[in-house]
Amino acid sequence: MAYLTLRNINKIYPNGFHAVHDFNMEAEKGEFIVFVGPSGCGKSTTLRMIAGLEDISKGEFLIEGKLANTLSPREREVAMVFQSYALYPHMTVYDNLAFGLSLQGIDEDVIDERVQKTARILGLTDYLDRMPRALSGGQRQRVAVGRSIIRKVGIFLMDEPLSNLDAKQRVTMRSEITQIHRETGATTIYVTHDQTEAMTMADRIVVMKDGYVQQIGTPKEVYFNPANMFVAGFIGEPPMNFIRRTLRDGCIEIGTSRIDLRKKLGEQAAAYEGKEIVFGFRPEAVALGEGDYTLRGCVELTEMLGDSVNVYVDMAQEKAILKVMPHEMPQMDSEVVFSIPASSVYLFDGSTEMVL
Ligand code: ATP
Repeated sequence: MAYLTLRNINKIYPNGFHAVHDFNMEAEKGEFIVFVGPSGCGKSTTLRMIAGLEDISKGEFLIEGKLANTLSPREREVAMVFQSYALYPHMTVYDNLAFGLSLQGIDEDVIDERVQKTARILGLTDYLDRMPRALSGGQRQRVAVGRSIIRKVGIFLMDEPLSNLDAKQRVTMRSEITQIHRETGATTIYVTHDQTEAMTMADRIVVMKDGYVQQIGTPKEVYFNPANMFVAGFIGEPPMNFIRRTLRDGCIEIGTSRIDLRKKLGEQAAAYEGKEIVFGFRPEAVALGEGDYTLRGCVELTEMLGDSVNVYVDMAQEKAILKVMPHEMPQMDSEVVFSIPASSVYLFDGSTEMVL
């Protein structure tokens, strides 16, 4: 049986706004699930319904198969870390960590043992006597995470916990949170709008848009088998290139190239004749030179990233981004010939935007 079940969960706010539509998901015990999507897509609302901080308007939320819609946050045994990690400013790190346990009337010795252990896991042992104002942003965030994991809960919920940190701290905390998750074994649901966080941390990713789940899958599944154009464009950096064309005689024209899609489309070729399809390929799937599907364009801009180069190419009516190796970096304003292996091309229905 799944540890958490969300069955047709909906949220309609009192002003009538329908923020979450028929959210369905199961999470196994110990899984790390990431909700990802653009601002306003309903990630936090869903998380807050799981936490018990927001009523579920319609649908069922189950913990270990038992209906939990009306349980309080405490009864659900959840701990939550928010974006704004409000620590108690007048308390030391030690007291910030211990406070929740003291409220529960837990024995001082047990509290001390747990504070020391949590501090060890998070590298805060040397800072236990400090006040929050004497800590860096990353250290404060660790205290906030510590306050949650010290409680030994079954469900750990995090809402953009790294968004107040700088880029370097985010990378460090990312791996720390994954490690803490492994050590505690708590089922974790983590909200972010950052696809890199989702890809690097998740066992499974839930991609959301406009209150609807677009796809649920492992990082590999959503990257290699996106369900639709939205997921394909959201996961991956730089994003997938999309070229919209009408299919004529099983072919499309891109710049000076005629691309024969009959083999790729197979039996669907006839059904899409005269219809719009979208030709998609990832910047990193491109090879310079001719290949399965060969395109040509003019180099508008190059961005040297050290380990790779982003090349912005103009193909008359279309633009594309290619990712190449530093030694392959083409000259600005030169013509570039590049190709995409047939297996790395994605085709989408031009009207439904679903993958073909
Ligand atoms: P962000 O990444 O910006 O936090 P999100 O995906 O977490 O976005 P939510 O905070 O869940 O999005 O909000 C989803 C939608 O519900 C938004 O359009 C938001 O404006 C709306 N919303 C949130 N809270 C309320 C409320 N109390 N009343 C009405 N609408 C709300």
